[in-house]
Amino acid sequence: MMSRRAQQRLKDQNHFRTNAFIIIDSMLEWCTQTGRTDLLDEILHGILFLGKINKPPFSPEEIFLDLLSHLAAEYPRPFDHYMTHLPRRSPFSCVLDMVVHLTQPQNEMEIRRILKDLVDNLERGFLVSTAICVSQYKNSVKYGVSMSTTGSIARKIVTAASCLSSYWDEYVADAVMTFNLSDQTRRTDFDGTFVLPRSVTCRAYYVNINRILPPCGSCGELFGLHTRSGNGFPYGNCAEAESLSNLFTSHQEMRKRFRPTSEFYTEQGREAARADTLRVLLKMLQRVRFNTERIEYYTP
Ligand SMILES: [Zn+2]
Repeated sequence: MMSRRAQQRLKDQNHFRTNAFIIIDSMLEWCTQTGRTDLLDEILHGILFLGKINKPPFSPEEIFLDLLSHLAAEYPRPFDHYMTHLPRRSPFSCVLDMVVHLTQPQNEMEIRRILKDLVDNLERGFLVSTAICVSQYKNSVKYGVSMSTTGSIARKIVTAASCLSSYWDEYVADAVMTFNLSDQTRRTDFDGTFVLPRSVTCRAYYVNINRILPPCGSCGELFGLHTRSGNGFPYGNCAEAESLSNLFTSHQEMRKRFRPTSEFYTEQGREAARADTLRVLLKMLQRVRFNTERIEYYTP
């Protein structure tokens, strides 16, 4: 007989499946309007990967139920690669990209409304981002969402993958890797933190309520955002990282005009930071018994 706590835990874990199913169902519908099969492909891989490393693990059959045969026939690659390749970002980022494509980037309120409607139908705790960040430079608006992983192992794996796979712009990855992924302490041999130019605005909101989410202490340290909070989320967890990364990627001329200013912003320091990040990644993958012989990242 299962204890009540164990029963509750099992019920909570099942929210992973409920949310995965609802998210994929929405993505399928949006995909018919946008044609962005690449995003559907990528999110399938991300969800399958997180399902596999979850405790307890979830198989594709358990996650997608009667959608499985259709999905596996239309999108075979994620099913062939989720046990060997790592996702470069967490699943909700693909949802965000889909919704931005659907509505066009300038329609901020509409984007936030659609995401809120989706999240209102989801259970808490799995595959859902808490925050969306809107960064702007001149007329260009770029979005990002917070990590939609659950638990510190999955978060560390995806954070490391975002840094090492070049998914994040190098400045963002360098800032994040200034802090040790293992214990969040600051490195003494490398400092890639920077202060965002004043021409860039960066503002985060809760996804599920229409309210500003002020920058946390960590984002203050990483990007020089003004913050009153001493407390911070783990470095790289917040929506600011993805949003700024997207902005830098599309504005190379603005990006080139500033750089991290520390004397510890060196190539040698970066190599050490990357090596340590990789070490943590391998350790986390071993803990979830994921194949670590060769680190490969999944691209749709
Ligand atoms: Zn933050």
